Amino acid sequence: MGKLYVIGIGPGSIENMTLRAKKALEESNIIVGYKRYIDFINPIIHEKEIYTTGMKKEEERCKKALELSKDNIVSIISTGDSGIYGMAGLILELNLDKALDIEVIPGITASSAAASVLGAPLMHDNCNISLSDLMTPYSLIKKRVELAAEGDFVISLYNPKSKGRPFYLKESMDIIKKYRKKDTPVAIVKNALREGQEIHMYTLENFKDDLADMLSIVIIGNSSSYVKKDKFITKRGYKVGE
Ligand code: SAH
Repeated sequence: MGKLYVIGIGPGSIENMTLRAKKALEESNIIVGYKRYIDFINPIIHEKEIYTTGMKKEEERCKKALELSKDNIVSIISTGDSGIYGMAGLILELNLDKALDIEVIPGITASSAAASVLGAPLMHDNCNISLSDLMTPYSLIKKRVELAAEGDFVISLYNPKSKGRPFYLKESMDIIKKYRKKDTPVAIVKNALREGQEIHMYTLENFKDDLADMLSIVIIGNSSSYVKKDKFITKRGYKVGE
């Protein structure tokens, strides 16, 4: 009898992976994942059988993992959390075999990873919005950006900018500007908590999207966010001085 672990490996450094994820990887004899993500965990998966596919082959990867897990201990990996724009949903949707033993293991998602290097920007109500239109119409993405901005949520934009949709980030920021002060802090964090980390701080007024790409996340503060001693902070409501 096999087993399938659906693992969020965190942002891409072993020290930011949960002990539970590490243990499951060590226990597995087959690891399934996108090539670039397998590289992140290379130091702890020597000698194991690896099944990799390219970027947009999620369905093929999940089907293979499900099939292999009938007789093997298999881990399918996502970066960050596997339940946040990761593989957990598709695995569970594709699983028609009730007998399969599937365990979802959480990980540190990109917004938490980026927040930790910025300070405390997610201290109050916040939401994640992906700007990828591969499976979501752009009209719906824009509506969500608009309502999140109106609702004063701190917003984390995943998949902020790719070659195929160069204007979505700028257009999203224009929507947010209608609801927020010009000096609202905005950060681009590239490769949070992994090799190549970069932090770029802006305000809504002077924001430039040229450094944003698919390896970065953009965090936009709410009406109580501010920067103090280089730290991006969102007030939770404690009565302390700025
Ligand atoms: N399951 C992942 C998200 C996958 S979607 C998670 O929970 O984090 C892919 C997007 O996540 C990227 O385009 C980028 O916007 C963001 N991302 C993932 N890891 C990141 C990191 N270490 N630093 C910055 N952004 C990251």
